[in-house]
Amino acid sequence: MKVFWCDNCGQLVFFENSQCVSCGMSLAFTPDALEMRSFDFAAIDPDQGTLANHPGWRLCANYRQHDICNWMVAADDDNPLCRSCRLTRVIPNLEVPENVTRWFRLEGAKRRLLFTLLMLKLPADMKREPTDAEGLAFEFLADPAPGAPCVMTGHDQGTITINVAEADDAERERRRTLLKEPYRTLLGHMRHEVGHYYWDRLIRDGGRLEEFRKVFGDDRADYAAALQQHYAAPVSLAWQSGYVSDYASAHPWEDWAESWAHYLHIWDVLETAGYAGLRLRPKVKEAPSVKIQPPPEGEPPSFDQMIADFFPLTYVINNLNRGLGQPDGYPFILSPSAVEKLRFVHETIQNSAAAPAEPAAEPAPAKPPVMPAGEPAKK
Ligand SMILES: [Zn+2]
Ligand SMILES: [Zn+2]
Ligand SMILES: [Zn+2]
Repeated sequence: MKVFWCDNCGQLVFFENSQCVSCGMSLAFTPDALEMRSFDFAAIDPDQGTLANHPGWRLCANYRQHDICNWMVAADDDNPLCRSCRLTRVIPNLEVPENVTRWFRLEGAKRRLLFTLLMLKLPADMKREPTDAEGLAFEFLADPAPGAPCVMTGHDQGTITINVAEADDAERERRRTLLKEPYRTLLGHMRHEVGHYYWDRLIRDGGRLEEFRKVFGDDRADYAAALQQHYAAPVSLAWQSGYVSDYASAHPWEDWAESWAHYLHIWDVLETAGYAGLRLRPKVKEAPSVKIQPPPEGEPPSFDQMIADFFPLTYVINNLNRGLGQPDGYPFILSPSAVEKLRFVHETIQNSAAAPAEPAAEPAPAKPPVMPAGEPAKK
């Protein structure tokens, strides 16, 4: 993540801020310049909704109406929602009071996901029609009445379903403990699920299946049987020798999605450290000393440099967290073969970024997201 400042007073602000805590100005993020801009909420044009000091922009409808977003939309865009919010096809049922906070958390995680996808120049547009193979759509669904099948967090041809219960901290922690996972977050779910979408586009449809199978194994292995076998087996640490996580060892598709998610974790952490000018200068000469740079403009970063910077940084992240009584931020061990899988993800993304851009599609018609009354189950 980049480091942001309030352009009115110079205060450091977070990507998630909608107000500067120093000068009180309202803030919004512009997805074209990838910067935060300050504005006066009272000076919004009452007819056009445009910002007085940024007349080419208005606020995302979810910012003005629900205060769950902090992004801008170009004034000439027909869609009332920002680039991130428009990806959500089904929002949680807002008649359930707790769902407003859950929706806020889900959209916040999605904006962070989208920021990284935009930085990596990955295609991240909304589906024009639900049946389109290309494009992304998110459905935030709640479990139906007891006895009916539960909503599974998952991916199907660009449609990503997240169970809204995952936005409830206590419930997500209960599931994490039950499944003996070291890490479970909304952002992690989204980075993982979007990895399946990019597998379809960049590996299956991108002519990289042969190379993929050399690194991750044969994806034609029976997926349902592999998952059943994975959940039936006792949890062990065997994954540490070849995978980024235990779940990655279930099937080559999950290995890819987990590796993809870790690559995005690593990218975001290094980007934050680079933009913040973080430098490690340990007293012991043999200990790694690094000065982390922001990703270079216009050229791919060196993967070996990324990993060389990331390893000592994980020590700092985890130790800072321990100092605050928090669990490790990055509770994983990256073996050499897991690193080679990350290298493959890196090369796939960099090849995609270097490929000529596809011609721009006609703008998709603006369709409001659905708020289900009785929420259906997703298989
Ligand atoms: Zn300010
Ligand atoms: Zn929005
Ligand atoms: Zn998966």
